[in-house]
Amino acid sequence: LPTIALIGRPNVGKSTLFNRLIRRQKALTHDLPGVTRDRIYGEVRQSERPFALVDTGGLVLDEDQNFEKEILEQAHEAIQESHAILLVVDGKGGLNPVDEQVARDLRESHKPVLVVVNKVDGYEKEDLASEFHALGLELVPVSAAHGYNVPELLERVSAIIDELGFEYGDEEEEEDRTGLRVAMIGRPNAGKSSMCNAILGERRFIVSDVAGTTRDSVDVTFERQGHRYTFVDTAGLRRKTKISDDLERFSVLRSLKATKQAQIAVLVLDAMEGLTVQDKKLVSILDREKTPFIVAVNKIDLAPKGKLEEIKRYFAEQLRICPHVPVIYTSTMTSAGLGGLLPLAEKIWAECQIRVTTGVLNRTLQDAITRHQPPVIKRRRAKFYYLTQTDIKPPTFVFFVNDPELVKSSYSRYLENQLRKSFGLKMAPMQVYFRSSHN
Ligand code: GDP
Repeated sequence: LPTIALIGRPNVGKSTLFNRLIRRQKALTHDLPGVTRDRIYGEVRQSERPFALVDTGGLVLDEDQNFEKEILEQAHEAIQESHAILLVVDGKGGLNPVDEQVARDLRESHKPVLVVVNKVDGYEKEDLASEFHALGLELVPVSAAHGYNVPELLERVSAIIDELGFEYGDEEEEEDRTGLRVAMIGRPNAGKSSMCNAILGERRFIVSDVAGTTRDSVDVTFERQGHRYTFVDTAGLRRKTKISDDLERFSVLRSLKATKQAQIAVLVLDAMEGLTVQDKKLVSILDREKTPFIVAVNKIDLAPKGKLEEIKRYFAEQLRICPHVPVIYTSTMTSAGLGGLLPLAEKIWAECQIRVTTGVLNRTLQDAITRHQPPVIKRRRAKFYYLTQTDIKPPTFVFFVNDPELVKSSYSRYLENQLRKSFGLKMAPMQVYFRSSHN
């Protein structure tokens, strides 16, 4: 899918717009508080030309940084990593110097840009948009909160996608051609490209430039023991020049995009550097976005004798927010741990596609409740009626309950763990929702 980035100052309404645009597809869940609120990637299917939408507000790495610098960096990253940009501005608040500066960068980039003048609640309010003509970019007035003019916005985005000549591939055909798609992500120098090369070894591979990718990204397709795989957007396999090598900086947006083009992500970390703030941010985004991933702690050959156990304890502790994620310890120098990587990726992908019948689910639910009753909260107890699986990739389960407010996170975790144990969902992400039902 073409990638469109939402950029803009805080509080201009980026996430409201984001939620409105992806909402139809998430119809099942949007009535649940807190569920879609903090997602940053969504697919917009209600449009004539579907696209992937990224809310860059959720990618902010350093909250202490002053936001002007942050938004300029965000804009810069979005310009590089997206096909087109929606610059959201506040129609009520009026033109802001930061908007002007971002608009200048955007004009220079020659990427398609739409300025979305938000908080314009109806036709009679459209003159709120007029002062933004000064930005020298195409404008669309909308109200993200009330939906005013959103269809017009989607039409304009479709027109941009047509102008870009973006070609939509057939998903099944793509799968046949690429096999399992794996994205190596992580900070520069963690060893991503060494790892790809070590796994590829002498094997012949086809390097193909994929249509519709924005930068000089490269996909590599290869076969191994009768299975086909593709390393997606493998930065390290791009022709490296000295300059771009030095300048290559960690881009959360780029990493996120690569994981969305892939089926499994491998987060490569440097054993000797530990988990940095950026790594942690990426881990929490992957976890939140329900991305299937493996952590590869690399360069273990550099660990002093006897220190490996300590390193393993450190990473286990640091990664406890996502206990289901498998961690492997690798060295591209000695090849330690590398042989297990692709089989592990296959296993996780198989888990992501598990389907459980409703009969089995409800027996499991009854067993779980019998073994461990939901706690009493304000003299009431959650009463579960029914459990159903609504999706795969990731496996998604919906519990129907008298009042979702009565299900606290510890009990929700308990139920999730019961499902994981019963159905062999050891490493894949999974999603559980609680919906109210009156039986
Ligand atoms: P990338 O930027 O993540 O693709 O990292 P590279 O694959 O380019 O590796 C960065 C540096 O780390 C290079 O100098 C590699 O030789 C080195 N390196 C990669 N893997 C290992 C490893 O397992 N052990 C050691 N000692 N060095 C490694």
